[in-house]
Amino acid sequence: MSQHKPSISFEFFPTQTQQGKDKLIETFDSLNELSPSYFSVTYGAGGSTRERTLDIVDNLCRRSDTPIAPHISCIGDSKAQIAELLDRYQAQGINRLVALRGDLPSGQVGMGELPFALDLVKFIREHAGEHFYIEVAAYPEMHPQARSFDFDIQNLVNKFNAGADTAITQFFYNADSYLYLRDALEKHGVDTTAKPLVAGIMPIINATSLMRFADSCGADIPRYIRKQLADFGDDKTSIRQFGFDVVMRLCERLISEGVPALHFYSMNKTQPNRRLVEALGL
Ligand code: FAD
Repeated sequence: MSQHKPSISFEFFPTQTQQGKDKLIETFDSLNELSPSYFSVTYGAGGSTRERTLDIVDNLCRRSDTPIAPHISCIGDSKAQIAELLDRYQAQGINRLVALRGDLPSGQVGMGELPFALDLVKFIREHAGEHFYIEVAAYPEMHPQARSFDFDIQNLVNKFNAGADTAITQFFYNADSYLYLRDALEKHGVDTTAKPLVAGIMPIINATSLMRFADSCGADIPRYIRKQLADFGDDKTSIRQFGFDVVMRLCERLISEGVPALHFYSMNKTQPNRRLVEALGL
């Protein structure tokens, strides 16, 4: 029996320098050869990367026919600012968005007119009807600020009910947390075949930045991974091989459980992502 094959997508973040942008374009060209369903480009909440996100989105849209899904966040922004972005993307032929609340940069106050992603999903539907395919964020290990796990799951259900088409998870290394969330959605009446739960996959490239990132977004790094990475110290080759083995096993388990799609947090890097996708035969 042939194995079920999930679709794939890659996420980029807008870079600060021209050199970073050139590198990102090279990475895009290489990962595009793997026929992803789309690429997404992150957006700094409160508009902090607005011009850079728009610039990368423009560049990538001109470069190939592969759909580009800009991330759009609502915290700290006005409805008028968000409407302007939506109109711009619609005029550009973009029909897919990743809709998020975002996290305000430190020092910035005021949640804006749309304080939560749920409000943003409703606003996009009110403003642009069914034009956009909307993806939202999901948290297999609970969003760090959620008042309870049940509340967080209900929040995701509400985002689906308000018009979200898909949810992409925060990264995780414990496949059971993903499966638990998928089952919970079904119990809440979400048909996850029609409204898929896409697994967010973080390749392990650099131990220090992975730990920092995991701590800030509430993702759990299992003890065996922490300990093994600590033992490797500065030995980048061992870190990459171990990271590859861990993420391969995770993806294989998810595929065997019928995951509909894998969304790679590419970190704007070619090799770790290509290696995984090729080894998985996707
Ligand atoms: P929400 O769904 O609004 O949830 C945020 C928190 O509020 C949760 O704890 C929820 O339980 C709680 N909540 C919801 N409604 C209420 C209510 N009425 N009262 C009280 N609490 C409530 N960030 C960026 O800035 N830019 C990006 O491009 C970006 N891309 C991302 C992509 C993915 C796939 C993921 C998983 C995350 C991304 N993030 C990004 C991070 C995200 O913005 C943060 O995790 C943010 O803290 C929450 O965003 P959300 O859309 O999940 O918010």
